Amino acid sequence: MAQITPMMKQYLEIKAQHQDAFLFFRLGDFYELFFEDAKLAAQELEITLTGRGQGEDRIPMCGVPYHSADQYMSRLIEKGYKIALCEQVEDPKEAKGVVKREVVKMLTPGTMMNGNVIKEKENNYLVALTAFEDQSFGLARTDLTTGECAATLIGDALEDVIHDIASSGTKELVVASDLDETTLKRIIEKCPVTVSYEDKVELDQDYMNLCEDLQSEKLKMSFARLLQYLIRTQKRSLNHLQRVTYYHFDSFMKMDTHTKRNLELTESLREKKKAGSLLAIVDQTVTSMGGRLVKNWLERPLIDQSGIEERLKIVTSFLEFYFEREELRDELRHVYDLERLAGRIAYGSVNARELVQLKRSLEKIPLIKELVGKMVPSLLSKWFHEEDQVFELIELLDRSLVEDPPISVTEGGMIRPGYHEELDTYRDASKNGKQWIAELEQKERQETGIRTLKIGFNKVFGYYIEVTRANTHLLHEGRYERKQTLTNAERYITPELKEKEALILEAEEKMEQLEYDLFVSVREEAKQFLPFIQTLAHSISEIDVLAGFATVSEQRHYVKPTFSKKRDIAIVDGRHPVVETVIEKGQYVANDVHMTKGREMLLITGPNMAGKSTYMRQLALLAVMAQIGCYVPATSCELPIFDQVFTRIGAADDLASGQSTFMVEMLETRYALTKATQNSLILLDEIGRGTSTYDGMALAQAIIEYIHDTVRAKTLFSTHYHELTQLDKELADLQNVHVSAVEENGTVVFLHKVIDGQADRSYGIYVAELAELPSQVTERAETLLKQFEEGTQAQWTNQAQHPPFSEQQLTLFAAEEEAKVEKSVSDTLTGQEEKVLKKLVKKDVLHMTPIEAIQFINELQRLLK
Ligand code: ADP
Ligand code: MG
Repeated sequence: MAQITPMMKQYLEIKAQHQDAFLFFRLGDFYELFFEDAKLAAQELEITLTGRGQGEDRIPMCGVPYHSADQYMSRLIEKGYKIALCEQVEDPKEAKGVVKREVVKMLTPGTMMNGNVIKEKENNYLVALTAFEDQSFGLARTDLTTGECAATLIGDALEDVIHDIASSGTKELVVASDLDETTLKRIIEKCPVTVSYEDKVELDQDYMNLCEDLQSEKLKMSFARLLQYLIRTQKRSLNHLQRVTYYHFDSFMKMDTHTKRNLELTESLREKKKAGSLLAIVDQTVTSMGGRLVKNWLERPLIDQSGIEERLKIVTSFLEFYFEREELRDELRHVYDLERLAGRIAYGSVNARELVQLKRSLEKIPLIKELVGKMVPSLLSKWFHEEDQVFELIELLDRSLVEDPPISVTEGGMIRPGYHEELDTYRDASKNGKQWIAELEQKERQETGIRTLKIGFNKVFGYYIEVTRANTHLLHEGRYERKQTLTNAERYITPELKEKEALILEAEEKMEQLEYDLFVSVREEAKQFLPFIQTLAHSISEIDVLAGFATVSEQRHYVKPTFSKKRDIAIVDGRHPVVETVIEKGQYVANDVHMTKGREMLLITGPNMAGKSTYMRQLALLAVMAQIGCYVPATSCELPIFDQVFTRIGAADDLASGQSTFMVEMLETRYALTKATQNSLILLDEIGRGTSTYDGMALAQAIIEYIHDTVRAKTLFSTHYHELTQLDKELADLQNVHVSAVEENGTVVFLHKVIDGQADRSYGIYVAELAELPSQVTERAETLLKQFEEGTQAQWTNQAQHPPFSEQQLTLFAAEEEAKVEKSVSDTLTGQEEKVLKKLVKKDVLHMTPIEAIQFINELQRLLK
């Protein structure tokens, strides 16, 4: 660039401080963006890219008018970008040289208070991550719109960190600028959030009290990073932040992102919508706060039995009182989002209309309390205290604000008459003035005899007398001064009109200013009630969620779950909570699940579309429902309390994730196998299908054995490898079950009933017939199947399984391996072991049938015993 103007110099200096954000640079009535910012913004916002300057020095530029900038900014934020808002901070008229400009605020996805980014029934979390030298991690999170703050420590396990961050609603992650690059990369790969940096981790004096409940320095440091980031970017009061609560990562049932997605906990797999998810069923809340809480509960089911049972007890009580409960829900419907109102009060962005909404919500509290008292008297003291504050706050708002104030806080019309004497005087003056003008209109009409004469007002000319052209000759000479000419009328003023106008306008101006000041003082006064409003909000959301659980439990005939100390599963007539609602009424086939000693693992076989996946997920969903404190769809249900749930869907079946590969499937399975404990639930659905038959089957078997012998978690394993059903002979705790189907008139009818024993054959061909594949294909398949069953598989393996390597290559590999084994093995192994290994290396595994493989392994084992 040949020459830089002083303003551009200023721009570049500020931009250098805000590399990772769009710099919205205020120029008069516009925010302008330059250079790369401009190019990208023009593209993302679909606005015109222009330029500043000439020729080679021309700088790419685009801009948005400041009064409509909000919508553009929130579009960028929604896409995960950040914005540095740079304003003129001195009056351009008084400026010497370039007007002084400063970034007054950062707008980021995790710090937004309103706009499209903020969803009513979702949290908007900002999370700060701190990595400590001993490999542990500190996580602190806040939802700025509600003021909720929480922190936890996680031992040496990045996967756990990732799953915590990925829990829904995390919009932005704050880390140290020197955080290990691969760590950060792994996090972002899994959860694509906006990343920001903050290196300051000293706790700010003003906010010390927030951390009083935090025991360790690490936790405080983690929260301090979050706080420093907020202080730096928000540059305003943060006094609605609530005390940081410590949450222990292990005090919730853990589910990784795959599991949550596969179980369709909060959104459906395909459409990514709430409809079709478990959330849509159990969320019967009527307030936004309740909506957010139930989602949080679903993401983090409890594992402490007393906590779960406390919730269930409340649901039971709510169920006993139908009328009171429904009346309660009717009242709750009128309660606004107290949490976010509290946030807006603290931020000073609340308007008079919202304060009136707050008042109306508070007015519902006494009745809500009474109803709750009837149903669960023991909880009144937990949910409702500081009752005086309800009335004090209602009184303040009622005394000061009119019933239906405007949204704008600068144009008056908010303060109730009688609240402030001076304001009332101005109002009288303005009102009297207007009255005087109305009377003047009458008087002028009489005096001039012009019946159409009228007095009007506009912002440019103030009050005027308007007379149609045809009547102007009737006006007295000299009394009227012409101000404006319209097509068929003239507008005049008179000295007395102007005099009155001055009085009225002055009164109005003072009135507006005074009203604004009064409103601000009411808002400030309301701030003192923030802790009270926040606690109340929390109680209301809990009541809302639990009353919703009662409602859905009643409507759908759920039953109260009980918990087994012996870790037994005994479900009678369980139903899949979502599937039962989408198929025809009464068509859902309920199923039992019994998993006790001798049947800790169920191996599920059955034709495609029989209901294997549904059966498996049903169990996990019932467990989740029970552990959030909701009743469950079954006629009776006994469950252990699960510490973790894992679901893995074979890559071939995992349609939703699209790019899922066999490698991913194996990585995910590894995670489940290494993390699961005896108290976990594992669902493995057609694992091993993503590779060639023998490979897949061998893996499936090895996985089953490993879980059976080592992990010992409750496991459901569905498979289409019928050969695996042999395993029940060797594995004491494995039980075969199958989903039954019957043939009727040559077609297959799925009964969706799960019963003990293995499925007798594959119904794949029948399904193909149902799908109306050409009969040539299905008939040929029938013939082939018969051949396979008669033991002529040899033909099949030779034809279908092209070896991936030539014979020559294979011999070479074998020889190489043999040499290696001989070298390393000879002096450490016994003769018998050596023999086994040699046999193993020589065997042509790729050309074995499953049965041959099993026999072979058996033989090897025998040699070693
Ligand atoms: P699989 O995993 O065995 O291929 P799915 O579990 O995907 O089969 O079930 C296929 C379809 O069958 C489901 O979409 C559902 O409509 C229906 N289905 C499954 N289980 C039941 C049941 N217990 N009662 C009624 N319909 C069922
Ligand atoms: Mg399936």
